[in-house]
Amino acid sequence: MGAIRDTGLDFGDRTKLNTLTFSAILLLHVGAVAAPFYFTWTNLIVAAVIYWMAVSWGIGMGYHRLHTHRGYQVPKWLEYFLAFCGTLALEGGPIYWVAAHRCHHQHSDTDLDPHTPRHGGFWAHMGWIIFGDSMHSDTSLAGKYAPDLNKDRFYRVLSEWHWVPLAVLGALTWFFGGFGMLLWVVPLRIVIGLHTTWLVNSATHMWGGRRFETTDDSRNLWWVALITFGEGWHNNHHAHPVSARHGMAWYELDISYLQIRLLEKLGLAKAVYAPSLDSVEASKGLREALKAGA
Ligand SMILES: [Zn+2]
Ligand SMILES: [Zn+2]
Repeated sequence: MGAIRDTGLDFGDRTKLNTLTFSAILLLHVGAVAAPFYFTWTNLIVAAVIYWMAVSWGIGMGYHRLHTHRGYQVPKWLEYFLAFCGTLALEGGPIYWVAAHRCHHQHSDTDLDPHTPRHGGFWAHMGWIIFGDSMHSDTSLAGKYAPDLNKDRFYRVLSEWHWVPLAVLGALTWFFGGFGMLLWVVPLRIVIGLHTTWLVNSATHMWGGRRFETTDDSRNLWWVALITFGEGWHNNHHAHPVSARHGMAWYELDISYLQIRLLEKLGLAKAVYAPSLDSVEASKGLREALKAGA
């Protein structure tokens, strides 16, 4: 435990229930179970659009590939917009998310990793969120792992008030679409988004193929990639964390990367770092040849 505190990210006592987070997650699951009784095509379509915005634009393209790893650059207004979309996933503000994720890469599958299946599949999936001090709003501590974002007043305010955009969305949905649409857009859509994101931390560190011999347990898992817009190509990602492209082969569908390419074509994204599989294999071959020759 002491060692975990030394990293600057205090996940606290792993057996202590975080009552507020647990209650919120429980309530969201109850709402999610009730949602199908209010099915309409409109509810489904609106929830799917917001799911895409939150999970692909917000988490995949924003929090993960842009804010954490800086795999590409966009104008400031677009960077802020992607972070705004990220808050709709209810995975915490950008500073907290980026700090926890950088900690995961720095200490992957060691005792200092905030969410490794080596501490149990359930721990990696959601245990780390509901037990311990999940510090969602402790921006000063998390700022140690994300000093770049912590310097920016917009990210500090958004991190402090990360639940506000979702609350406003919920109020608008209820007002314009009724209670049924609220259940689809808030609890059901959030619960699905949380579990698909959490599968990247649990399933893709346990099951699937390994293209690269990384020092962690990361794997490529096609079905997680499908439901997360490309995040499931996680072994590729751990081998090349800065790459904006996670699906490296033509058959590895990576919808978030396709949208980054689209932004590039529109002149909105630049400095997109995305090594092709051929160039990665070629440089690996060259390294081995040099080693053999030495
Ligand atoms: Zn990982
Ligand atoms: Zn990452």
